[in-house]
Amino acid sequence: MTRRVLESLTQCKVVLRTGVGYDVIDVEAATEQGIAVINIPDLWTREVANQAMSLLLALNRRVVNLHSDIRSSTWTPRPPYDVGSLHGETIGILGLGRIGSAMAQRAKGFELNVIAYDPYISDEVFTDRGVTRVSFDEMMSQSDYISLHTPLTDETRHIINENALRLMKPNAYLINTSRGPVVEEAALIKALQEGWLAGAGLDVLEKEPPASDNPLLSMDNVVLSPHSGHTSVLSLQLRTGRYGEEVAAVLDG
Ligand code: NAD
Repeated sequence: MTRRVLESLTQCKVVLRTGVGYDVIDVEAATEQGIAVINIPDLWTREVANQAMSLLLALNRRVVNLHSDIRSSTWTPRPPYDVGSLHGETIGILGLGRIGSAMAQRAKGFELNVIAYDPYISDEVFTDRGVTRVSFDEMMSQSDYISLHTPLTDETRHIINENALRLMKPNAYLINTSRGPVVEEAALIKALQEGWLAGAGLDVLEKEPPASDNPLLSMDNVVLSPHSGHTSVLSLQLRTGRYGEEVAAVLDG
C-alpha cells in the first residue's frame, strides 16, 4: 500500500493489515489521509513459532534429506551425513516479542538453552520467559541455532549481514521466519557455499517467490517453505471473524 494507492482511496477509513508487519503499508501516508491502519498481531503467533521449530528440527534430524533418499530408493538408517541431536545446545533468538517468546517456549521443551537479543524489552520480560539476555555479538557467536523474529525496519534490514554471519559457529544453523531482507541473502549464500555456516531454514526470502536460479533452492543444507509460516487450517478459519471484528471496532470508534 504505497502513498499513491492510499491517496487514491478518498472514501477509505481503515486499512487492515492481515499479517503482522506494517512494512508493506506507508503508515505515514495513511495517517496524513486520516486512514487508520490496524493489524491482528496475535493471530499467527503459534503457527510461525511452530514453523520455525519445524525448520530447526528438519535441519537437525535431516528430515528432507532422508525423505529424498527414500524417494530415490536409498534406504539408509545410518546415513552418510551427520544427523544431529538436541542435548542442551544453545539457541539465540533475535527479537523476543510474541513469536520469539513462543519460539523460546518451544525450544525449552526440546531442552535447548535459550539466549536472546532484543534491546526494546525489559529485563523483567527476559526473566519471565526464562531467557538469558545477551548482546547481539554474544548471541551470534554463542548460538548453535539462531532464529530471527524481528519486524523488518531500517534497523533490522540486513542486520544479518556478512559481519554478523562471520560471528556464527561454523556448525550453526540460521532459521528465518521473520522477513527475507532481515538477512543479506548474498552473504548467506556465500557462507553456505564456502562452508562457514552449517545450514539454513528459511520461510522468507529477499525476493518472493525466488528466481529459479537462486542457489538456495538447490542446496542440501537448506530447508525452505514459501512464506507459509502463518498458515494453518485453524488460523485461516479464525482470521475471517477477527478481520470483521477489528474493522467494526474502528468504525464504531
Ligand atoms: P512483535 O512485535 O511481538 O516482536 C518483535 C520483537 O522484535 C519485539 O520484541 C521488538 O522489540 C524486537 N525488535 C525490534 N527491533 C529489533 C532489533 N533491532 N533487534 C532485536 N530485536 C528487535 O512481533 P511478532 O508478532 O513476534 O512478529 C515478528 C515478525 O514476524 C513480524 O514483524 C513479521 O515480520 C514476522 N512474521 C512472519 C510471518 C510468516 O508467515 N513467516 C507471520 C507473522 C509474522
